[in-house]
Amino acid sequence: MRLKQPLITWKYSGKPGSPRVLGVNPWIYDFAAYNVWSRPAGLLTCLDMFSRSGCDTALIDLMDRELSPSDWPEAKKTGKSRYPRVGLPKPSALRNIPRQFSRYGLSRQKAADALSDLCPKPDLVLVTSLMTYWYPGIISAIRMIRETVPQAIICLGGIYATLCFEHALELDADLVVSGPLERPDNWSMVWDLMGKNPPPLPEHAGMIPDTSFYQKPGFSILMCSRGCPFKCPYCASSLLYPGFRQADPLLVISHIKAEYGRGIRDFCFYDDALLLNPENLLYPVLEFIVKNNYKLRLHAPNALHVRYLTPGVCALLKKAGLTTVRLGLETIDFQNRKDSKLGLEEWQKGVANLLQAGFVRQDIVVYVLAGLPGQTDAEVEATARECLKMGLRPELNYYSPIPGTLLFEKSREVSGYPLDEPLFHNNSIWPCVKGGFSWDEHKRWKKMISESVNR
Ligand code: SF4
Repeated sequence: MRLKQPLITWKYSGKPGSPRVLGVNPWIYDFAAYNVWSRPAGLLTCLDMFSRSGCDTALIDLMDRELSPSDWPEAKKTGKSRYPRVGLPKPSALRNIPRQFSRYGLSRQKAADALSDLCPKPDLVLVTSLMTYWYPGIISAIRMIRETVPQAIICLGGIYATLCFEHALELDADLVVSGPLERPDNWSMVWDLMGKNPPPLPEHAGMIPDTSFYQKPGFSILMCSRGCPFKCPYCASSLLYPGFRQADPLLVISHIKAEYGRGIRDFCFYDDALLLNPENLLYPVLEFIVKNNYKLRLHAPNALHVRYLTPGVCALLKKAGLTTVRLGLETIDFQNRKDSKLGLEEWQKGVANLLQAGFVRQDIVVYVLAGLPGQTDAEVEATARECLKMGLRPELNYYSPIPGTLLFEKSREVSGYPLDEPLFHNNSIWPCVKGGFSWDEHKRWKKMISESVNR
């Protein structure tokens, strides 16, 4: 059925003849996907930069329910939800994986209609990218953009474009940007492509996600910092954002105020290192929430650094309404862990401080890294059992090999898949586990964890 009115509208700069920049968050193509307060945060900061540089901006988020709420599964009260999906034939490289492959998000027809109805047409379309193995969704989105707005210039950026730059060049974009848009060379390149002189980067470039495109959001996001000073060998954080930068707390506070004013009560932190230097940012932000008696649910699905869970931080997080607590333990084998982000004593103290502050054990989910190259099942099991013994809920996070990280070469050696093909980075196929994904093994782990949790 054809949509009756344009669902995407421009946010006008007020200046006649301004360049029009449309952001597109493409579909996910995968074996599984779930919306855990997902927003294309990087793309939203890019739109903010263009908007504050005098452009008209708009967003089409193919993974958001607003364009077609009736097709979306009901969201939970906190904003999390499943996505609508359509089963697809598997890409031939994945034909032997015993799982259903799907496209998640808005239907293709409704997406194309929404884009065709957009008036006036964009000059530049920014397509973002997340997981490296989701690139089929980008191919599909770019094809749709070429068909519906053929005159627009297409610029591809984001995580996949940064980590698999050479691969991304083969897609049909006019420009591929590697790294943050606020990097001066990237900023100039995009303006050059539009045939304009690049204006100076706006203040706080890269730190303000423009969430105003979502008219009736069930949640909002908070970006307090970019980057992470730890360089864990399995993580891409430092490749995507070299260095570490914290936002001005007043910016974060004014964002919370604005979003609270339009009825939003669930906020998700998008930081990799939220707890670092809390006196600069986290304390003033949380103190504002507490002092003004805002009744919020705060979510931290990106693991918190346990070593920074001091009594003061935990107490304030609790008072301010932290509801979703995820800890990055990864392994209980502290002697042989691959990173240096956590020691045994820090782990024990961090958990004790959370409990002391009033968090309950059942609400604390602990990420356990599984499927690392050379890792034994015994190590994963020991870690999961240790969490269960402490009354905490372990969640297995299967390893995804990421190009450019220290562990990638080792992953190549042990994987049964040719990892030059990004489809094989998918953690749903257990790329570095001998024999790959198995339903029997999957069920065994699930049973072990859920039986212990429910005991
Ligand atoms: S501490 Fe977390 S975010 Fe930082 S590098 Fe390690 S895994 Fe990545």
